[in-house]
Amino acid sequence: MESPLATLSALEEQIVAAVVEHRDELIGLVGDLVALDTTARNPGEPARDEAALQGLLQARLLALGAETDLWEPEPTGRGNPFVPDEQDYVGRPQLAARLRGVGGGRNLLLNGHIDAVSAEPREQWSSDPFTAEIRDGRLYGRGACDMKGGIADMLFALETLQRLGVRLAGDVVWCTDTDEEQSGAGAIACAEHGVRADAGLCAEPTGFDVWVACRGCVNPTLTIEGRPGHAECVQPDWRAGGAVNAIEKLRIVLEAVRDIRADWRSDPARRHPYVGPPDLVPTVVRGGEWMVTYPASCSLTFDVQYLPGQVDANGSGRAVFREVEERVAAAASLDPWLREHPLRWEWPWDIVPAEVSDDHPLVATTLAAGAALGRTGRIGGLDSWHDAAVFTLRAGTPTVSFGPGSIAQAHIIDEYVPVQDLIDHAAAVALVLTRWCGVVG
Ligand SMILES: [Zn+2]
Repeated sequence: MESPLATLSALEEQIVAAVVEHRDELIGLVGDLVALDTTARNPGEPARDEAALQGLLQARLLALGAETDLWEPEPTGRGNPFVPDEQDYVGRPQLAARLRGVGGGRNLLLNGHIDAVSAEPREQWSSDPFTAEIRDGRLYGRGACDMKGGIADMLFALETLQRLGVRLAGDVVWCTDTDEEQSGAGAIACAEHGVRADAGLCAEPTGFDVWVACRGCVNPTLTIEGRPGHAECVQPDWRAGGAVNAIEKLRIVLEAVRDIRADWRSDPARRHPYVGPPDLVPTVVRGGEWMVTYPASCSLTFDVQYLPGQVDANGSGRAVFREVEERVAAAASLDPWLREHPLRWEWPWDIVPAEVSDDHPLVATTLAAGAALGRTGRIGGLDSWHDAAVFTLRAGTPTVSFGPGSIAQAHIIDEYVPVQDLIDHAAAVALVLTRWCGVVG
């Protein structure tokens, strides 16, 4: 039996028709956003076109009658366990806005990150990554899919409702932030600034699925100490002053990591219905100083992924970090040199996961809106982290992701979003707004 929400009311049919009729404006807006270089940078590097892009969005939100707030957060400084030490926002403002409803309805947050990953190696692109180009029904450009297409759709949904004179009961809260691709610091700053609503939609490229969960991550580095000595001279035992090869000791660590991964993957208590099991992947290794010298040190960086259910009472993944550290230390302690020269660990900022219950009413509302447009999605999750977790965890705003394009087209050479996805997503967001916030009159 077809759910009544899977069909469109007369007003909803008008909304969909208006999106289709003005599709060129929507495509133009995506192109304007792609043309502004907001590729992610490391803390300390100069700002790119973040202010210009947020200014463009702000002007259009003001034209809708929204109250807007464009600000550069204060740097959080060293010691914040959730933000890089050198994090700054100079020339890289965050944008919040509120479009007031008539009253009596539920509020909805619309969130997107304006940063995109590097376009390098640029010469491998088929067209300029900062000039949107449509080929075979796909709009190409860096950030087209992740997630300027989704941001444009959300704005266009609001503009479409305005065009038709639709008055929402609840407020729409807008938030476009920076730094999602590196640390989530932009969303954290927005949550601390007071951005919140009854529930939220984040426009990650879910392909019309609704993501209710993601894993968290942290990238610790451990350093193994060795003892330098001439590589071409026979060395006595280390207890007699001989050299110790730090690179060779790495084997002990890698074997411990392999065992932890295997245990985590096979542990039924560490399963999640929508994301993969916790994981531990060695990603960067550095070691040695000179080609004829025993290496004095070797370091290994990991990508540790953990589940929403593993967040501790302090809102961090520290219990997981302790388990990793203790198990690797236990393996290392079997080696006499490492027992006397313990591994040194550095744990940088912790990117904390979150989840929204799959029976949250926004999940059903969003899926029904997609289905009504012929874009039937499923409940899912993202193995990687995304901003929805920040608003869920730190702003009391259960936030799910729902957007055009597939995560498979994110971060790639020739990134693209299907044009039909843009149109359907803009229409679906407009439907969610009317069904969630309520319509007056
Ligand atoms: Zn993204």
